[in-house]
Amino acid sequence: MIFGSSFLKFQAGIADTYPVWPLKSVTQLKGMSRPGLLCAVLGLCCASAICLAEQQLPTLTTAAAVHALSKAEAEAGYPVHLRGVGTYFDPGTGDIFANDPEGAGVWMLWKPGLPRPVAGDLIELTGRTSFTFAPDISDLQWKIIGKAPLPKAKPVTYDEMMTTHEDSRWVEVRGTIRQIERRHGSGTNDVLGMRLDLSGNVADIQIPLPAAASVPSGLVDSEVVVHGICAAVFNNNRQMVAIILDVPNLDQIKIVKPASAAALWGPPAPIGTLQRFGFNSTAGHRVKITGTVTLPKSGGFYIQDPTGGVYVETHQNIKLVPGDVVEALAYIDIQDAHVYLEDAHLTLLRHDRPLQPRQLSFEQAATGHFDDMLIALEGRVAGRSTLPHHEILDVNSGRSVFPVFYTLHTPEDQLPNPGVVVRVSGICHTLLDDQNQAVNFRFFVADASGVTVLQQAPWWTMQRVLQLLFALIGAVTLALVWVVLLRRRVTAQTRLISQKLAEEEALKKAAEAASKAKSDFLANMSHEIRTPMNAIIGFADLLLDTPLTEEQREYVETMQFSSHALTRILNDVLDFSKIEAGHLVFECVPFSVSDCAGRALQLIASEAQRKGVQTKLEIAAGTTDAVVGDPYRLHQVLLNLLNNALKFTSQGSIRLLIEDVSRDQKQVELKFSVVDTGLGIAEAAQKRIFESFSQADNSTTRKYGGTGLGLAICTRLVAMFGGRIWLESKPGEGSRFHFTARFDLPAGAELSEPKKELLASR
Ligand code: ADP
Repeated sequence: MIFGSSFLKFQAGIADTYPVWPLKSVTQLKGMSRPGLLCAVLGLCCASAICLAEQQLPTLTTAAAVHALSKAEAEAGYPVHLRGVGTYFDPGTGDIFANDPEGAGVWMLWKPGLPRPVAGDLIELTGRTSFTFAPDISDLQWKIIGKAPLPKAKPVTYDEMMTTHEDSRWVEVRGTIRQIERRHGSGTNDVLGMRLDLSGNVADIQIPLPAAASVPSGLVDSEVVVHGICAAVFNNNRQMVAIILDVPNLDQIKIVKPASAAALWGPPAPIGTLQRFGFNSTAGHRVKITGTVTLPKSGGFYIQDPTGGVYVETHQNIKLVPGDVVEALAYIDIQDAHVYLEDAHLTLLRHDRPLQPRQLSFEQAATGHFDDMLIALEGRVAGRSTLPHHEILDVNSGRSVFPVFYTLHTPEDQLPNPGVVVRVSGICHTLLDDQNQAVNFRFFVADASGVTVLQQAPWWTMQRVLQLLFALIGAVTLALVWVVLLRRRVTAQTRLISQKLAEEEALKKAAEAASKAKSDFLANMSHEIRTPMNAIIGFADLLLDTPLTEEQREYVETMQFSSHALTRILNDVLDFSKIEAGHLVFECVPFSVSDCAGRALQLIASEAQRKGVQTKLEIAAGTTDAVVGDPYRLHQVLLNLLNNALKFTSQGSIRLLIEDVSRDQKQVELKFSVVDTGLGIAEAAQKRIFESFSQADNSTTRKYGGTGLGLAICTRLVAMFGGRIWLESKPGEGSRFHFTARFDLPAGAELSEPKKELLASR
């Protein structure tokens, strides 16, 4: 507790009334003139410094001197030695107050071994200053040295007491006692508690009450003058928030105006009329209401009658349940533009069935017409929270959300989950804006019994939706990462493939260049070889015209044969090389197909005759004969196929068949077939023989000679004719080589007629 000021008066007073020690306190100087005070303060500072340095602090002899110390001074531990008269002693708590004649006081806490003073005992006490949250005295020792009159009480208002300057002072206040009750203290020491109305503010009074003593009656609603110690009530932040008047006994309470009987004996006021115009009450005095308890709440009850509802606060220790019909004598209080009843004395009249709530919509409830009344609302639980002393639901009633407070402790597992549709039955406490217009409300239910589940929560809760969303985001993120990785791989692979393709292209170009170089070389070489070969053949021919012996003739003929064979090979190689090198150019001249075919057949005719093989040219009726193209290359293909047929046919026939495949105004496609009755070609070799340097089997060269180039040349030439070549053959049954070729048609029509006479066999 903190001590009062006015120490000069106290000093003077205490000097007059109680003999004290010589004054050495620093506060002694306060009554001096200004110059004198300045000198004194300077001197005192020096003196204090010296004293402190020497550890010889002056002894403080007044409560006010202790109170005036700074924190550092108080902590320095000034010795205290003073006298005061005991004003208050609570045997339950051990609180003792001793005050000077002017009322300033000190607080002491009784401890075993020290005397218990009563009001009027003169006390001499010693100790040392210390600091808690104000200057204090510790190591207290005291003794009762006699009796003294109680100090003069200082008349004070509530506001003056709340300044903190009157703390521990013996004061006088005037007010109306609102409530009186026995409060149980420690052991057998009870306290008589009173609530004193001081023009709208309320202070507590506590008077030590022996266990056997009864609570006095007739004090409530009386106007009284009270003498007592002004003690402060602090909060956790050491802020003074209320006042307790510590009064030693009932003698210190004097009734100046007895209680009004009007409220006691008059009819109860309808709740709905409280503070309405025409409301019949005596200002500052009690009103009486009767009604049914609708909801218990800590410190009071909501009570309702047919005209309205109100919250009734009481300090009475009474248990009421919904349905209890009670009479309440209480004081009207107004907070936040709401009418409450305070300091109620409740009397249970009877117990009825609990009132039924009125079912309303949110909009109806928000009008404010059902303030503090029992109603029921429906809505979906939007959320819930648990505070140290409250469980709260947020209920969504459609467009608005209102909070539902549980007034009694309710275990968390009894709260409905978010999403559940509920009906809440409880008190609607209207919330007002600055203009006192109803804007929303708080809803109070007692406990889980005030909340009925109408419909369970849907599976799709916000939590589940969020979980699903996060899972989806996770999956999409993974997919994106996968796509990015895949793209990187594809890019790397594409780069690799491009690299390989470029390398292959380079290799291909190199191979083509090498092949072309080879073909060029072969073409050149073949040409170079053919020139001397022609000379050899020519001179061999000439030599044969000269007179030769039989033996010489034979040699020359062998030489001539070999030279022709070599020339044919050279021609094949040369042609193939030319085609490969892309040097071969087709002529474009008008010619007769039958003539060309006849000449080719003519060339093998004599050899065939010698082998006993028949040759035959068969041109289908209507076959186009006059065409424009390269007769030499057509002749070459035909001769090649006919030579092969002759080579591999030892008996039977060789036939050359020609027919139109298709024809339009400009072009004709002809099909040529060379059909023999020779060896035939095995299935496996049929494809291979069209490749260059390839023969049906390895023995062919040995037996029949050849280079394996003939069909390869034919294939390329046929392709240049815009046709294709293929064969049908079975070993032992002969072969059928077919090829097609396209030719332009000449402008004149007379050449288009086939030469019928060539149809005869040759
Ligand atoms: P070659 O100069 O070896 O005759 P070709 O390309 O003209 O080269 O013929 C390739 C091979 O096809 C021949 O060696 C032969 O084995 C086979 N061949 C071609 N025509 C016939 C045919 N009418 N009857 C049987 N085998 C044939």
